Amino acid sequence: MLYESTRGGLKSISSAEAIKKGIAPDGGLFVPEERVKLSLEDIGRLVNISYQERAVEILKHYIDDYTVEEITECVNSAYTKAKFGCDEIAPVHKLNENVFVQELWHGPTCAFKDMALQILPHLLVKAVRKLGEKDEVVILVATSGDTGKAALEGFKDVDGTRIIVFFPNNGVSEVQKMQMVTQEGKNVHAISVEGNFDDAQNGVKDIFGDMELNRRMEGGGYKFSSANSINWGRLVPQIVYYFSAYADLVKNSEVTLGDKINVVVPTGNFGNILAAYYALRMGLPINKLICASNDNNVLTDFIRTGVYDRRREFKKTISPSMDILISSNLERLLYEITEHNSERINDWMGRLKNDGMYIVDADVKKKISAVFWADFTNESDTLKTIEYLYKENDYLIDTHTAVGVDVYDKYVISTGDMTKTVISSTASPFKFNESVAKAIFGEEFIKGKNEFDLLEILSEKCRLPVPDSLKGLETREIRHNANCDKTEMKSQVEKILGI
Ligand SMILES: *Cc1c(COP(=O)(O)O)cnc(C)c1O
Repeated sequence: MLYESTRGGLKSISSAEAIKKGIAPDGGLFVPEERVKLSLEDIGRLVNISYQERAVEILKHYIDDYTVEEITECVNSAYTKAKFGCDEIAPVHKLNENVFVQELWHGPTCAFKDMALQILPHLLVKAVRKLGEKDEVVILVATSGDTGKAALEGFKDVDGTRIIVFFPNNGVSEVQKMQMVTQEGKNVHAISVEGNFDDAQNGVKDIFGDMELNRRMEGGGYKFSSANSINWGRLVPQIVYYFSAYADLVKNSEVTLGDKINVVVPTGNFGNILAAYYALRMGLPINKLICASNDNNVLTDFIRTGVYDRRREFKKTISPSMDILISSNLERLLYEITEHNSERINDWMGRLKNDGMYIVDADVKKKISAVFWADFTNESDTLKTIEYLYKENDYLIDTHTAVGVDVYDKYVISTGDMTKTVISSTASPFKFNESVAKAIFGEEFIKGKNEFDLLEILSEKCRLPVPDSLKGLETREIRHNANCDKTEMKSQVEKILGI
């Protein structure tokens, strides 16, 4: 399989090259040049095999410059019971006759980013070696919370890599900060920056673009790379779990092979739901992809009207990992929908950059609405959904998942469609425990209690164990206490690498 840029500037590169580069030099995203097609028979063969085997079966079509042995090694290093705490890796929980929740948060950081970031480092190291490079890969990440921790866990002790994460000192939650500063591993660094997320992000961009520094890096035997969510190496592992969910439903006789299902995805950067779209194009029987947003509902408007307009107030919500106004991966969807028309992509992306908005043509809008349905959920309904599901179904969900559940309810009311449905559950309820506790016990109850207290209270009252990775977090040894001004990020990198 060869890859090309959505902006038309680069064609026919290998998957190793696409994964190494991350983003195309013309600013576009890498996409497979051809469509992978699986038959129902192929899908049927996934039913009685493990998650790891399912992963190899899907990945081998997209990264065929890796041998099956290499893919198997990557998969087996990433998806272990030790890291995910369960054999299923992405288990499907039955909510009622029609509705299933796929739990994508059993990984080491309790959120779905682990599904991709546990395997990406292995894919990346193999890519670099395949391309004949011997340098140590240095990953730089600017994070507003979840991604930084998931990347630290993914790259921890992976030979041939080193990772440096910058986070805004006052821009992450107490739990997120403790998760990062207590990170173990011999090749990991977490540094707090005096500034906000944009400052950290701009600092990292400047370092990537600093040619003089890049030359000195090479002299020292290092090469920068990124673990950004637009890297194809993060997208492709996400296709796997949609096939896995379907295979589980067939296995448990919930559907017959060939029956269609709906998929609901709480969406931010459009990566997770795009993976579901690729699964659909490959032949997974999917009826509708339901795109769920929070109050930052730019995607709801786009899918309904064909107008993408980011010129609106950015809202901080209780589902912060979906607080996004530019959903980067949407560019890949548009490229696929327009049958790989990079001229139209360049036009729209240019307008987005210059005018803050673009409008797709009627044919494109029609093709999108044939597959996607979209709505959003406000803050109070998100909390009500958590409370309702806990009281009615004895099932605890986090704020992001609650957005998905509530939008699904709106879908059913609006369409009457009773097709069996899988909802993506993207974080453990313990990860966003303050909002979850507020939803169940009320505002008064949580007053004066910190996130660490609430973790214990939630566990006790809901009779669920605190995930290992969050247990005792507040008393763990602090291993990273570097702090710098936003102007000092480059010198921090130089100091760490000794260049
Ligand atoms: C990143 C994230 C999302 C959004 O996923 P996208 O792929 O960006 O659409 C949703 N929920 C949680 C918990 C996340 O961490």
